[in-house]
Parts: sequence; structure tokens; C-alpha cells
Amino acid sequence: MKTKAAVLYQPNTPLVIEELDLTEPADGEVLVKISAAGVCHSDYHVMKGEWTSPMPVVLGHEGAGIVERVGTGVKNVKVGDHVILNFRPNCGWCGHCVRGQPVLCNGSETPKSEMFSGGSRLSRNGETVHHFARTSCFSEYAVVQESGAVPVRHDMPLDKAALIGCSVMTGVGAVINTARVEPGSSVVVIGCGGVGLNCVQGAQLAGADRIIAVDIKQNKLDYAMEFGATDVINSSNQDPIEIIHELTKGGADFAFEALGRTETIEQAYESIRPGGKAVVVGMAPEDDNVSINALSLPRNEKMLMGSYYGSARPWIDLPRLVDLYLSKRLRVDELVTRTYPLDEINVAYDALAQGDVARSIIVFD
Ligand SMILES: [Zn+2]
Ligand SMILES: [Zn+2]
Repeated sequence: MKTKAAVLYQPNTPLVIEELDLTEPADGEVLVKISAAGVCHSDYHVMKGEWTSPMPVVLGHEGAGIVERVGTGVKNVKVGDHVILNFRPNCGWCGHCVRGQPVLCNGSETPKSEMFSGGSRLSRNGETVHHFARTSCFSEYAVVQESGAVPVRHDMPLDKAALIGCSVMTGVGAVINTARVEPGSSVVVIGCGGVGLNCVQGAQLAGADRIIAVDIKQNKLDYAMEFGATDVINSSNQDPIEIIHELTKGGADFAFEALGRTETIEQAYESIRPGGKAVVVGMAPEDDNVSINALSLPRNEKMLMGSYYGSARPWIDLPRLVDLYLSKRLRVDELVTRTYPLDEINVAYDALAQGDVARSIIVFD
């Protein structure tokens, strides 16, 4: 079959909108008609050449849609199901899966640019076009693994559901699943884009007492107040660490870094109290490193840890976030600042690069 998709041929070149060939779902795979896809920074790392990927590639890993067909052996997803795409489809049986950390499972031995059983389902004039994160939802249709398509309630709007698939899960999950923030805690969130705002609302959901949002853009700090921040610090013109230590009387219980930058990861670590947890949620370029004071680790029992995809157990957590949204305990509508058709995806990424938006989404017919 044919699918219109956005294709990246080379880093630092615009995505090309064109028609590709998509083969039928193989054993254990499902075909999803995409309804909406989020414009996330992770795809942008590949577009800028900061993350390596075989090319050409169809990006897009934050999406939702309706199951159109299923391959042989598929048991838990059926035609007509509304699904949120899980960009970490897992095998179900390895140590990570059995321990309850499925996002750490690579699913199979094949690279993430291929399906579990090997190869790509996408091509153009007989030439292979690669998958990204086994999702590739900047496309009208996508073939994904069964574990990568999580059924959700039919009353969940699919455009909002798309955002639950990455930014909401990543931000809220980092607070609730990874860090296990306790009621009454003080929480710092550095970087208030799509993921950071979800750390803010995750902290509110967890009952944090003080939620201090840090960003260099005033519009993002305004969003943070809407999402539950109690204090905001514009770090373009002042040092956030000193202010945080003053506000929290000696350092925050938790700090979440949602940008993936060396400087702000170090800031997050400096923001916490002895015994506090600094959690890196933002995704950095592949070759970046951070530097922290070594003695402060044992002497102050400080913790620096990472959170990938909100330590999600997607088949439990994505439907749970949908319930929280539908019972009005989670804001998703307010995250969406702009929507674009697929043809305007390069405009959407320019807006992301400028820091103009909380989140924009690509909406399909
Ligand atoms: Zn993402
Ligand atoms: Zn596994």
C-alpha cells in the first residue's frame, strides 16, 4: 500500500513529503492509520545530526491512531482499536521486562530502525526507507509491533492521546514512577517545554508542596504557572541555584532536568539538598558529558539518576494517564499550542527550534 510521509534524507535538510510504499504487517505487527503525531525534540536531534540514524528515515515517535489491520499471531490488539503508540515496544520475557522495566528492553536483536523480525516495512522505488524507534508516525500509516500499539478508551480524543504517548508519559512518569515524589515535597523543574510542563503537573498530581519552574523564556514560565508551578525563576538574568536554595531552605527534595543540556543537568544537581534526587529527563546529544563534584555524592548522599520515557509500563500507564485526563486531573489540551497538516511539518519544527510553543501536533485527515 501507499502512505504519504515526511522523509529525512540528510541531517540539516528539510523533511521531504512524499509517497512511500508500506508492506502489510508481518507476524506480531499491526497497521495503524495515524490520527495525530506530536512534534517532539527527540526527532529534532536526528534532524540536526546529534543522534545517528540510518537514512533515509521516517521520524515521529509520539502518535495515536486506529488499528486498520493486524498480522498473524497478534492477540492483544484488534482492528478498530484506538491506540497510543509506544515507542519502546518490548519483548515481554527478558530481565528488563520481567523486572517491570520494559522501556529498557530493546525488543529484539535487530536495530531500532528495523522491525523485531528484521528489515523495514517502508520503501521508495524499491529502496529501503528506515523506521525511527519502530514507530515512524510522521506518516499517514505506520506498521508497528503489537506491544507498540496500546489500546485506549474510544472516548479519548486521538489528537490529545498522541501527546500522552511521549511528552505526558515522559514528564509525569519521571515524577511518579522514577523519582516517586512524596506529598509535601519541594520540586524543581528546569526547562518548561512539552516534557518539563508535564513534570510540573506530575509534581502537582503527586502532592508536591512547592514546585519551582525554571526557564529562560517568560512564555514558558507563564505556561508553568498554569500547570501548577508555585514559583518561577527566569534564569536568563539570574542564577537559579541560589534562589532555589533560599526558597527551599537548603536545596530541593527533587530536581527534574527536561532539556538534556550539560549546564542545566549540573544546575539540577546543584539545586537539590543533601539526600535529594536530581533526575535527568531531557535527552542530550549523543556525545555530551556532565561534570559534578565527586565528593558531594558520598558526603551529601546526593543522587543523580536518569528517567527514560517516564520509567513507563506502557500497557498500564498510558491507559491510566488517559483516565486521569478524562477525569480532568491532567491537562493535555493546554499543551497544544499549534496544529499543522503533515505538509507543514518543517514550519512546525522551525517553531520548535525558536522555542515558541509548548507542543505542536501534526493532524492527519
Ligand atoms: Zn518524544
Ligand atoms: Zn524484554
